[in-house]
Amino acid sequence: PASGFNPARRLAGIGVSEILAIGARAAAMGGDVIILAAGEPDLPTPAHIRQAAAEAVEAGATRYAPLTGTPALKAAIRDKHRRDNGLDYAADEIIVGAGAKQVIHNAFMASLDPGREVIIPAPFWTSYLDQVTLAGGHAVTPATTAGNGWKLTPDTLAAAITPRTRWLVLNAPSNPSGAIYSDSELKSLARVLHLHPHVWVLSDDIYEHILYDGRRFATMAAADPVLAGRTLTVNGVSKAYAMTGWRIGWGAGPRALIAAMAAIQSQSTSGAATPSQAAATAALNGPQTVLADHLAVFARRRDLVMTGLNAIPGITCPPPEGAFYAFADISGLIGRTTRDGTVLATDADVARWLLDGARVALVPGSAFGLPGHLRLSFAAADDVLADALGRIGRLIGENL
Ligand code: PLP
Repeated sequence: PASGFNPARRLAGIGVSEILAIGARAAAMGGDVIILAAGEPDLPTPAHIRQAAAEAVEAGATRYAPLTGTPALKAAIRDKHRRDNGLDYAADEIIVGAGAKQVIHNAFMASLDPGREVIIPAPFWTSYLDQVTLAGGHAVTPATTAGNGWKLTPDTLAAAITPRTRWLVLNAPSNPSGAIYSDSELKSLARVLHLHPHVWVLSDDIYEHILYDGRRFATMAAADPVLAGRTLTVNGVSKAYAMTGWRIGWGAGPRALIAAMAAIQSQSTSGAATPSQAAATAALNGPQTVLADHLAVFARRRDLVMTGLNAIPGITCPPPEGAFYAFADISGLIGRTTRDGTVLATDADVARWLLDGARVALVPGSAFGLPGHLRLSFAAADDVLADALGRIGRLIGENL
């Protein structure tokens, strides 16, 4: 029956995440559709982590956890940051949430008044923009280019800052481009930020461990001690340990910010699920060889996808430095008309055509603030990727 429901004004222009929507549309088509839309490793959560969660449940880890996380998980997070990043966060400088996504939402809700701006370099993970809007802020999205490695330059940053800027969001390795910042590139951005003490940094490090060709990870709080005092470092177990469904992420930063985020969390979820926190503790404290194992799988798939995509006329894709996405330039396809008369005017048209004609779901670059591209997630099995590339190549070869 018709419900006559009208959503709140704050939802104007915000729908279900486009990436989730494309995945759902493709799944609804049924049959043999290959969905390379979501950033979700197909690998199983390692056995010792599953085992730790099962044991925790049997031992009674079935009640509310403390609002900002269990002492055991916060200790494991503290150790992780010391071990990997040379950062030392006290327990009250850490908040655990239901995924990095909730942590970022908490941060924006806790800090944005109407009209405050958040600089989000494009291409960006779609949710930043909608989360900022939902929290009443205004997203400022300076474009980066393939020519400068999809990285924000100090000049572009300086030009984007206004008296109303509250945050700069940095996400490296980047979803969707895979770009990373070196320690010295972060220091150059920090020098600009030294001149603007009202601007904080949200560093989304969720792909920290997925770095190719021996590249080294760098993060703002470690690169610049001054900026550490106004940086929220966000991370989680979803991507590194193949734990998307457990929903555990965290934020680490100045305690006043963490306390404000905790207030938001206390009125929404009351915190992350207790068994999942036991699983995340086991992930961070257990053997870290799983990270190298997972990376080897992603590296092999990256090479497979790069070879396949670059062999298709009209598509070019530089190899990503990190994360598990191919962000392909499809300007050679845009503006073309297919043999049956379909006009490919935009990247969304191309994505739709590939979904209908090749039964492969990819996400258009416009969803990431950078039209003219398609994002392919290669967190899928090798044979599935090979099948998808074959289908795309055939559809284009036979119809353009
Ligand atoms: N940040 C980025 C850049 C992501 O791509 C994702 C997931 O796609 C997240 C955060 C969310 O991760 P989580 O599963 O911890 O909520």
